[in-house]
Amino acid sequence: MRDIIILACEECKNRNYTTTRNKRKHPNRMELKKFCPNCRKHTNHKQR
Ligand SMILES: [Zn+2]
Repeated sequence: MRDIIILACEECKNRNYTTTRNKRKHPNRMELKKFCPNCRKHTNHKQR
C-alpha cells in the first residue's frame, strides 16, 4: 500500500515535492531538507 504525501517548504509554504512512504516504516510526520525553487535554497520541508 502506498501513501502519497506532499512536502511543503516551511518558509514560503510552496508545495515542491510529492513522494510516497511506507506508513509502517515512518509512522511520524516527515520533515526533510529539500531545495526550494521559490526560496532558491535548501529549506525544511514538512509533510502536508
Ligand atoms: Zn520556500
